[in-house]
Amino acid sequence: MDLHIVGADPTDEERAAVDGCLGPPATGWEGGVRDIGSEGRTAAGGRAISHQRNLLLPAFHAVQDRLGWISHGALNYICRRLNVPPAEAWGVVTFYHLLATELRPRVVAHVCDDIACRLHGAEQLCRDLDGRDAVKRSPCLGQCEHGSAALITHAGKAPFRFVIHPQSAGEVLDALNLTKAPAEPKVASVGSKLLRRIGNADPQDLESYRRHGGYAALKKAIAMGPAGVIAEVSAAKLLGRGGAAFPTGRKWDAVAREASLPHYVVCNADESEPGTFKDRVVMTDDPFALVEAMTICGFATGSERGFLYIRGEYPLAESRMIDAIGQALAAGLLGSHVCGAGFSFDVEVRRGGGAYICGEETALFNSIEGKRGEPRAKPPFPAQVGLFGKPTVVNNVETLVNVLDIVDEGGAAWARTGTAGSTGTRLFCLCGHVERPGLYEVPCGTVLRDAVAMAGGVAGGKKLKAILLGGAAGTFVGPDALDMPLSFEGARAANATLGSGVIMLFDETADLVDALGRIAEFFRHESCGQCVPCRVGTVRQEELLKKRTLDLQTYRELAQAMKDASICGLGHTASAAIESAMANLQVFRSPS
Ligand code: SF4
Repeated sequence: MDLHIVGADPTDEERAAVDGCLGPPATGWEGGVRDIGSEGRTAAGGRAISHQRNLLLPAFHAVQDRLGWISHGALNYICRRLNVPPAEAWGVVTFYHLLATELRPRVVAHVCDDIACRLHGAEQLCRDLDGRDAVKRSPCLGQCEHGSAALITHAGKAPFRFVIHPQSAGEVLDALNLTKAPAEPKVASVGSKLLRRIGNADPQDLESYRRHGGYAALKKAIAMGPAGVIAEVSAAKLLGRGGAAFPTGRKWDAVAREASLPHYVVCNADESEPGTFKDRVVMTDDPFALVEAMTICGFATGSERGFLYIRGEYPLAESRMIDAIGQALAAGLLGSHVCGAGFSFDVEVRRGGGAYICGEETALFNSIEGKRGEPRAKPPFPAQVGLFGKPTVVNNVETLVNVLDIVDEGGAAWARTGTAGSTGTRLFCLCGHVERPGLYEVPCGTVLRDAVAMAGGVAGGKKLKAILLGGAAGTFVGPDALDMPLSFEGARAANATLGSGVIMLFDETADLVDALGRIAEFFRHESCGQCVPCRVGTVRQEELLKKRTLDLQTYRELAQAMKDASICGLGHTASAAIESAMANLQVFRSPS
């Protein structure tokens, strides 16, 4: 491809950041020193270079980490290295809110002002910090159990990122001056199956994981063979835990049967649904479990390569996962002869750039491939045409980790927990106005009232006004829904959704119109803009709510248009919380 690159050249530091990620350029055509005598006038290996486009986002991250922003010179150099037209690369880099294309300070605080943190004063915290170059407001950072959160990014030769939970503007400003990441506080987590190792096994030690039963499931899976594993996952009737509730066994079987090669495993760890933090806790505190589960998935579906796409707001989870993958590789539990059993599997970690829509599976593929993270029209489905156009199994973290117990116990035995239509346990993220926020694992079918009681009920003994189930794309219910069973069928019967497992409590003092306005802002910000109904509808919805215009007819018309004519789940659910608030709560009848 002819690249027409004009203007800025990279600085030495930018060049070093890119070369550190991609390796040194092999020829002058890739941005090295041109030597017409030895290289001629034809770029050799162009096809191979084009196939590296999937390194576009990692290269952007490398520059962002080193410089704190991506200049035109850096962008041009990346384009030369990867043979990507600058206009396309610009479209990609501007898609992600964690990547900056204008000069900004090397240390930046991204302060969450989303729904869960707002219930604990985030709006005031952000107002106290407004106007500072080094402080940016952020959508949900997935730290909803803490009551406030800021992601601090330090760019430089030895970049580092960490999360704090500030109580005041001063704490955010102090964090900008730290020279190393402080330890993150432990998360309250209660559960006896998926969460049993948390707090017991050392998440940074493979041997500790093994002492707690780790890698027994992989051994069993190898003995069962790929078809045997899929049979057990199917017998378990495991439904996907990311929100779509698709049968996992059917998905794995479809990929395993595809003749087209290679097959891929993608773990969707881009949990960005406001109120959700479960996958972060699992990856941070039980990372080997996910590596083992992905390996079993690779074995069962005939995939040799897995990608773990982890949201950019989870620095600790990312480093724990990279460390766990490295230890597994060194121990022969990943690589070209896994456990000496004659199959290969490896996992590559890809960091997201701050885009909720990349949690949609096809948008995630595009993001890995170095394109804008825009959803694709379906069909074809990922099992046939997924990542790089090949059969791909996509599961989220919680879904995959369940497979360990399924293989260990046998699918039928595992399915005895839960209900007939919703087998196993589920992780719920209890947050908002709750006494003991944290991650709770309960058998599917547990009554909502009991899950809330596990977390100590409404904080401070106040009265409950509403519960948001499933996150921003979920459903508001009133206190009259407390007897709802937390199962897929129980939620369906109540016209609700469990979505990604959020249970966010709002007490009697909460301003629900403010919460709905922030949800509308979130969807406007995160819409990829491909479909007009979603692009325009989310803007109109936000305008109405921010003006506190409680015009039910207009909301309903907007919601219908978005549902009817959007191509992905974001457009279909962008009005779900607002519509459910209309149906189930008093908020639209008596403005607060
Ligand atoms: Fe993008 Fe919205 Fe269309 Fe989804 S529905 S593809 S987010 S514009």
